[in-house]
Amino acid sequence: MTATLRPIFADQLSRGLVSLCDLDRDRDVVLMMEVRGEATHVPHHRKKIAFLFSAMRHFAATLSREGITLRYVRLDDPENSHSFAGEIARAVETLRPQRIIATQPGEWRVLADMRQWKTQAGLPVEILPDDRFLCSAQRFARWAEGRKQLRLEFFYREMRRETGLLMRRDGTPEGGQWNFDQDNRKAPPPGLIPPPPLSVEPDALTREVIELVARSFPEGFGDLDPFPYAVTPQDAQLVFEHFVTERLACFGDYQDAMLRGQDWLYHGVIALYLNCGLLDPLSVCRRAERAWSEGQAPLNAVEGFIRQILGWREYVRGLYWLEMPGYAATNALDAQRPLPEFYWTGRTDMACIAAVVDQTRRLAYAHHIQRLMVTGQFALLAGIAPREIEAWYLAVYADAFDWVELPNTHGMAIFADGGRMASKPYAASGAYIDRMSDYCGTCRYDVKKKLGPRACPFNYLYWDFLMRHRARLEGNPRLSMPYRNLARFEPERREAIHQDATRFLRAMERGERI
Ligand code: FAD
Ligand code: SF4
Repeated sequence: MTATLRPIFADQLSRGLVSLCDLDRDRDVVLMMEVRGEATHVPHHRKKIAFLFSAMRHFAATLSREGITLRYVRLDDPENSHSFAGEIARAVETLRPQRIIATQPGEWRVLADMRQWKTQAGLPVEILPDDRFLCSAQRFARWAEGRKQLRLEFFYREMRRETGLLMRRDGTPEGGQWNFDQDNRKAPPPGLIPPPPLSVEPDALTREVIELVARSFPEGFGDLDPFPYAVTPQDAQLVFEHFVTERLACFGDYQDAMLRGQDWLYHGVIALYLNCGLLDPLSVCRRAERAWSEGQAPLNAVEGFIRQILGWREYVRGLYWLEMPGYAATNALDAQRPLPEFYWTGRTDMACIAAVVDQTRRLAYAHHIQRLMVTGQFALLAGIAPREIEAWYLAVYADAFDWVELPNTHGMAIFADGGRMASKPYAASGAYIDRMSDYCGTCRYDVKKKLGPRACPFNYLYWDFLMRHRARLEGNPRLSMPYRNLARFEPERREAIHQDATRFLRAMERGERI
């Protein structure tokens, strides 16, 4: 008789997972499930589905080699009920376990579902906190208590002190400052060609999964080929090591750059591995720190990289569990527009959006500034409804799981939380995209034009956004400069901006090519 049933989800592929620690090889069964309900509750990118299913199958093979008993439900299993609850019920009926032990999932929706398992299965269900993060939910809640605004910088400093990463013995930060952003974020020089990330050749198991996904989701979003991603911890480690030796040194300098034909620039492309458990965040940070201490990479690059993982990644997770489920329901800017079709097709004359959507469709990847300042900023300025744009981000990126996607989109990109996370909306005119990318040179719109049919839409949408939300945003000290500029505009200019924005947004709503 089975003693304990231990379900493992697609983002829990770590051998050290808390719910696998006291596993009894003779009496326990690990349950893994490829269910259609999870693959389609938002229309996930096909490369993302293939990545996760292949990583799951490789993880299952590792457990089997260790002699652990597995119940692995494949997508094409005729008995598959295609939901977690249905598969738990089937496993309980067949295996008759005495209890269920699981690790907390990365999504509030799934946690709420799991809380019903006890009643449904008539068994004790223990949900253990996921300890693969550097800051527990309780630790974050303690830090957040009494703070009106939750600013990353203060949280990050505490995490540096706690872990000792990039800290001197006397408790001060290496290099004498916490943050080297003034040395980072350079505009890309013409002809910049970074070395590409290490690409991993798909093995037989991955090829089998790619074929399964192609058959099962023929109309799904996103290309399956090429498939360059690692699906085992060993290969993910090789990819990361290659990044450290070949690309980390320039990470900071070109962190915000965007170039056609250079999909990865100097980014790590490791979030997909960190988020499903193939890489460990602390080891990644320690390795980057060593690259600095051994002279392989400068401090501005290494500090910038560590801040993303030790700071941002931990911070958004803490915020998610602190604020959910109410957080997702806020809509501070009352954004109501449906998501335009071009987020899926890329058919728009805005060259920046077309390029990012095309890259996303090919790779299930775009880097932070593409997500924040192109597709995210457009959604903010155009007033796209939070649920619509959030479902898109959750679907299209291989690294997207609710705990990390939601705060980044809801809080950082579209300011739907009214400033709980970001001190101001990330809004800018087309000049920002022009400075940081080579997109504008090929665009039908003219980034230098402010008004009229050929003007860059980001230009008039930006000012119209500030006018529309004046009551809420004008008092924000970080927006005093643009509001002072706006106050100097002639009434005719303000009216012309509003007219152009209205014309453009109406055309978008009618589904016209814009
Ligand atoms: P790098 O640029 O190499 O950075 C290194 C690592 O730092 C990343 O792998 C990631 O683990 C971490 N990191 C960096 N920025 C963030 C951040 N803001 N929040 C959390 N971790 C961060 N990241 C996800 O992992 N999943 C998502 O679903 C996701 N959705 C996003 C949606 C929007 C609208 C925005 C603006 C950002 C989102 N991010 C998300 C954050 C960030 O864009 C990605 O982590 C990053 O682009 C992944 O690429 P990389 O591994 O090359 O990162
Ligand atoms: Fe994007 Fe405007 Fe530049 Fe075109 S001109 S690529 S719309 S920022």
